[in-house]
Amino acid sequence: MRILLVEDEAKIAKALEKGLREEHYDVVIAKTGEEGFFLAGTEVFDLVILDLMLPGRDGLEILKALRKQEKQAPVLILTARDTVEDRVLGLDSGADDYLVKPFAFPELLARIRALLRRGRLDQALRLRVQDLELDLVARKAARGGNPLELTAREFELLEYLMRHQGQVVSREMIVREIWKEDNRATPLDNLIDVYIARLRKKVDQEFQVKLIHTLRGVGFILGEGSP
Ligand code: CA
Repeated sequence: MRILLVEDEAKIAKALEKGLREEHYDVVIAKTGEEGFFLAGTEVFDLVILDLMLPGRDGLEILKALRKQEKQAPVLILTARDTVEDRVLGLDSGADDYLVKPFAFPELLARIRALLRRGRLDQALRLRVQDLELDLVARKAARGGNPLELTAREFELLEYLMRHQGQVVSREMIVREIWKEDNRATPLDNLIDVYIARLRKKVDQEFQVKLIHTLRGVGFILGEGSP
C-alpha cells in the first residue's frame, strides 16, 4: 500500500513516516504544498494524508485540485484547525476523513485501515468481464458502457455466471443458488433455458464477442471465446 504524506513539519513527517513504515506501508513524503500537488498529480497512491497548513499551496487547494482531476485515492486531512467550519470545509472539498492535531498514532492507523478497506469494498462491489460490468450496489448492468435492462432474476443469474467466469455452471447449480430449490426438476430446466436465452439476447446479441456459452448436456460458461 502506497501512501503520500504531505506534511511540512519535519518532526511530524519523520515520526509518521517511521510509524507507517513499521506497519509496512510504502510512504512518500512531500514537504511543501507544491511538492504534494506535483506528486499527487503524477504518481499513483492508495491513500493521501494531507496537512492543511502548508507553505505554498495549502491542503484544501491541493484537495480541490485532486478531486477535479478525479483522483480516486482516499484523502485523510490532518490539521491543527479544529473548528466545525474547517471540518465541514475539508469534507465538502472531497476529503474522506479528518484528524485534528495532536492525535494518537494508533488513531491515525485505524482511520487509514478503515479508508483502505472502504476502497477495497468499492471494488468488490463491482464485477467486470471484458466490457460487461455489474454494479452490485446500484443493481445496474452495462456492456460497452451501454446500460442493459435486466429483471431482478436476470441480474442474479448474470451475477452468478460472472462470479464463476471461465467455469462451467451446471443447471443444478443455478437451480440451487438462484431458484433456491434443492430438487432439480425438468420444468425448471426449461425455465433456466428461457432465462439464459433472454440474457444472451440482452448481453450478447448486439456484440461481436459472445460471452455466454452453452455446453450441451453440461451447463453454461461465461467468458470470452468459445469454450
Ligand atoms: Ca503544517
